[in-house]
Amino acid sequence: MADKIKVALNGYGTIGKRVADAVMRQDDMTLVGIAKTKPDYEAYVAAKKGYPIYAVDPGKAESKFKAAGLSIAGSNKEMIKKADIIVDCAPEGIGEENKKLYEELKKPAIFQGGEEHEVAGTSFNAAANYNEAIGKQFVRVVSCNTTGLCRLLYAVDKAVGVKKARVILIRRGGDPNDIKRGPMNAIVPDPIHLPSHHGPDVQTVLHNLPIVTSAVKVPTTLMHMHFVNMTLNKAVSRDEILGAIRQWPRMWLIPSWMNIKSTADVIEFGRELGRPRNDMMENAIWEESVTMDGDELNLFQGIHQESDVVPENVDCIRAMTGIEKDNMKSMAKTNKTLNIGVVSPWKCSP
Ligand code: NAP
Repeated sequence: MADKIKVALNGYGTIGKRVADAVMRQDDMTLVGIAKTKPDYEAYVAAKKGYPIYAVDPGKAESKFKAAGLSIAGSNKEMIKKADIIVDCAPEGIGEENKKLYEELKKPAIFQGGEEHEVAGTSFNAAANYNEAIGKQFVRVVSCNTTGLCRLLYAVDKAVGVKKARVILIRRGGDPNDIKRGPMNAIVPDPIHLPSHHGPDVQTVLHNLPIVTSAVKVPTTLMHMHFVNMTLNKAVSRDEILGAIRQWPRMWLIPSWMNIKSTADVIEFGRELGRPRNDMMENAIWEESVTMDGDELNLFQGIHQESDVVPENVDCIRAMTGIEKDNMKSMAKTNKTLNIGVVSPWKCSP
């Protein structure tokens, strides 16, 4: 095997810590380290895992890390210098600021969905447009919602053709540890203006797909829920749609016998499977909801916001560095190493 790709994680929160663990599972990648602004329980676990910790602003952070008994390996600038590629998982909007550092050091970087498409110029989904990322210096892995939509819309568009998609997104208010976000007791049209930005975001990947979206936020932390309606190029059987979805391990058709009635059950299933952090990286599509009415397809899917972008980041690393030019091969490798594909094949921890 050629030299392993040296990956640095600039930002180690909800997304960064998961991408770091996923990188550690790849035999063609190594982790240079992770960067944070301050010591906390996530830094503690990173240290326990043996991940070198770099400080975003060592002048401010060094004494805090020292007081916490955690050693830092240097500044995040030093970490970036050692890496072949950076996965920027800093909070929304900070990636754009960090870009100056990547430009100065001439390093390729992956941004997350909290950044605007223009920050990278290329937005990514492994199934839909892997080739667009090959050899690029900057690419953005689209947000959790957009990733879930791109997977589904691409699969159905490839199989049958989508004339127009209309999607209602019911968004989680915050992540499980996100106490500062709400709503606490409300349903918030977000954004109030229609359509929402999610449709144009899908079009940064699926450039010609007509789509209209609207979104509300609700008081839950577990997952997002999408109601998806598509007008297809022709009327096809429900079985044809199910067959098209089944070809992609990153989408999971929930059989009715499993008695999974809600996003809470999906996450509980993740716990039962012994998945790290209960993560359900696959789109969770209720098979019973997949309904054809002439040329119209309707369905419900749950999206685990904390984890569905993780395999996409791993594939994006392979595409940008050019170590694997075939998206199907990269996705197969990522799926295998991350145990993606809930129903078959899967293993339960004892
Ligand atoms: P997060 O949990 O708040 O984590 C952010 C991390 O970045 C923390 O480790 C933080 O370190 C670090 N950080 C802060 N300032 C930094 C800087 N200047 N340079 C480098 N690192 C810095 O954020 P997140 O939820 O993982 O989101 C990261 C990105 O992924 C955002 O673009 C977001 O929109 C996107 N995204 C989030 C989700 C989701 O559901 N959470 C889903 C898909 C995509 P300290 O804690 O030490 O300050």
